[in-house]
Amino acid sequence: MSRARGIIIGLVASILLSSSALVDAGQAAAVRRFAKPKAKSPPSTAKCEKPKFRIVVDVGHTPDSYGALSARNDPEFGFNFHLARLITAKLKSAGFVATRLLVTDGKARPSLVKRVSAANDGRADLFLSVHHDAVPDKLLETWEFEGAKSYFSDRFSGHSLFVSERNPHFATSLMLARMIGRQLRDQGLHYASQYTMPVMGRYRRQLLDKDVGVYRYDGLVVLSQTRSAAVLLEAGSIINREEEMAMNSPERQEVIAGAVAAGVGEFCERR
Ligand SMILES: [Zn+2]
Repeated sequence: MSRARGIIIGLVASILLSSSALVDAGQAAAVRRFAKPKAKSPPSTAKCEKPKFRIVVDVGHTPDSYGALSARNDPEFGFNFHLARLITAKLKSAGFVATRLLVTDGKARPSLVKRVSAANDGRADLFLSVHHDAVPDKLLETWEFEGAKSYFSDRFSGHSLFVSERNPHFATSLMLARMIGRQLRDQGLHYASQYTMPVMGRYRRQLLDKDVGVYRYDGLVVLSQTRSAAVLLEAGSIINREEEMAMNSPERQEVIAGAVAAGVGEFCERR
């Protein structure tokens, strides 16, 4: 375990001990396994008053079910946790004081519905899930890092944004994703274009906005079962050796968190 990973796990352990909503979401569980949202006309996102606007910033995966492993063998969960925490801080300092960081634990699939419940029961106005990207296993190559056989793929890089047409606020979710995407683009960052390629197989997605990289992903429970507008951000690829270094840097983390907060701020002003 790397030192960074040890620190992250320690930090997370202390948060988990004091948190009330501790659940997990894997990325792509089948939506049909779960009940449909009870309310047809959710109250969320009707208007936006910053201090009252309840944003849930969801840390993708859990310490037990940590998502992807980076090119240097650090778990995705740690990357997600750092960035989500920074996004939460940026939102709060921008006036969104009701923003909440959602850190969860346990195994991936059984806790999906609980993660959604945490957002729905807390009557979130906005759900933002933070992840870092990898590639399908068949694209992985091997290298040696710190004496250990490790896996990487330098073929793709960039961030991407996902929304679900099954979300009751699909149009609103898409609008927010576009605003965040534009902010990221304005910072000189590029989006991951590979999701339309045949090589992605079952991970192929429909590109809804070719300018800023918003994709449709209906199979994601956290997007389709939340009763608020919901967006999932893949902030960058940690299986790409160069981009992993960037994603680990405070400079890049600042840029991305700032762009997300600016996108949410613009979204709020337009409502
Ligand atoms: Zn993930």
